[in-house]
Amino acid sequence: MSIATTNPATGQVLKTYDPMSDEQIDAAIERADLAFHQLHGTTIAERGRWMIAAADLLEAERDETARLMTTEMGKTYAAAKAEVTKCATACRFYAANAPKMLADEPADAAAVKAKRAYVRHQPLGPVLAVMPWNFPLWQVMRFAAPALMAGNTGLLKHASNVPQTALYLEELFRRAGFPEGAFTTLLVGSEKVDRILSDPRVRAATLTGSERAGRSIAQIAGRELKKTVLELGGSDPFVVMPSADLDKAAEVATTARCQNNGQSCIAAKRFIVHTDVFDAFAEKFAARMSALRVGDPMDENTDVGPLASESGRDEIHAQVQDAVDNGATVLCGGEKPSGDGWYYPPTVVTDLRPGMRMWSEEVFGPVAGLYRADSYEEAIEIANGTNFGLGSNAWTEDPAEQERFAVDLDAGNVFINGMTTSYPELPFGGVRNSGYGRELSAVGMREFCNTKTVWVGEGEAGAGAGAHSE
Ligand code: NAP
Repeated sequence: MSIATTNPATGQVLKTYDPMSDEQIDAAIERADLAFHQLHGTTIAERGRWMIAAADLLEAERDETARLMTTEMGKTYAAAKAEVTKCATACRFYAANAPKMLADEPADAAAVKAKRAYVRHQPLGPVLAVMPWNFPLWQVMRFAAPALMAGNTGLLKHASNVPQTALYLEELFRRAGFPEGAFTTLLVGSEKVDRILSDPRVRAATLTGSERAGRSIAQIAGRELKKTVLELGGSDPFVVMPSADLDKAAEVATTARCQNNGQSCIAAKRFIVHTDVFDAFAEKFAARMSALRVGDPMDENTDVGPLASESGRDEIHAQVQDAVDNGATVLCGGEKPSGDGWYYPPTVVTDLRPGMRMWSEEVFGPVAGLYRADSYEEAIEIANGTNFGLGSNAWTEDPAEQERFAVDLDAGNVFINGMTTSYPELPFGGVRNSGYGRELSAVGMREFCNTKTVWVGEGEAGAGAGAHSE
């Protein structure tokens, strides 16, 4: 894949980059390793000041950074501005909370026959971050802010279609005060990931991307015995029960499916509706989806911009076509527009059955699958009937049913009567083919820390009765 900025609204190639040579990659890893040792001599407070400076820069440069993202991957300008603000918030959150998250945790010294014992959280070293284009700033920031605050350094291999946003991120942290090499963008294709992750100086990797990329990185990491966090795809269920507020559910369903032009891992993708309210919900939902305005992402009246790539649009249209060819019904949308730009209309498809691509695959665009369930049990069966397990939503006013959904939905998160989203305060990640490990909160920060046990005794041999060694 060439490394280039191509405007999805026009299909025009605006800027291309030569990939880095192996020598340049090795030099960048060396700088990341040196910077790691340099960060070792800094305090959390110092790193916190740099992180706050990064937040200040993000806020000051919000509009031009947002324009850059819209130009590179087609999200609406309004959504891009909100993404920049969210990144600044995460920087401030980790600057404020890292001291608490990284503080030593005292253990029960008497129980472990020590004079004192505690758990310390120390950084690992340079971490490779392989990132996707769909939230080109936020996906990186939710790794970078906690990792840098912990004292790790970052090597970013961003998606090949967002090189300018990737370079902006390197500059951002350097201008904020982090040492040279603390955060480096590697302009490379995915074929270089093996070389980078095999380097002994690189201690771990995090990937946000497709299942295919996840399997590949997990194999390399397995061979090299390196820690990984994988944030992969999803096909989130959005279950609507009879007690739900249907107007609210239809409104949120529309946003949950079409935010970011339908290209979000945690977008609701499968709408599973109890038969008692199926027709009413379907009518409201299709009406709202049809009413969305598709067009120029820089126009403030636009709800849905173009998809990020022509191949992405071809893929979702092929998934819709496959469903239609096999007997599904299109309630709205479903036509591929002609003309410039990789636009696709908000689409609702129902009468889906096992065997159709939409039943089992992630649909990465503004296309909703609508499913009918005769009971709570059937809704859960459909909801959990995929290989994914990232986010999930349930709409019900019944408190007992809310608790059942919280237990029964097999996913990394359950949002009741609201849309799945991410917050720096809450862990984020999936189960099954949606990956493993967590980002955000203290849990995310500690994924790339050595959780070190420190035991200090009186110096006598053995450490007393009951001690044994493995
Ligand atoms: P992708 O093709 O996997 O690309 C993501 C990143 O991985 C890019 O930097 C890409 O580089 C790299 N990559 C691709 N194949 C690779 C391989 N075999 N080995 C190593 N690196 C590889 O994913 P995408 O289609 O751009 O992004 C959409 C996917 O990401 C969806 O499945 C979505 O659900 C998922 N996603 C998950 C989360 C989450 O938090 N769970 C969040 C956002 C997106 P190139 O660009 O150079 O190919």
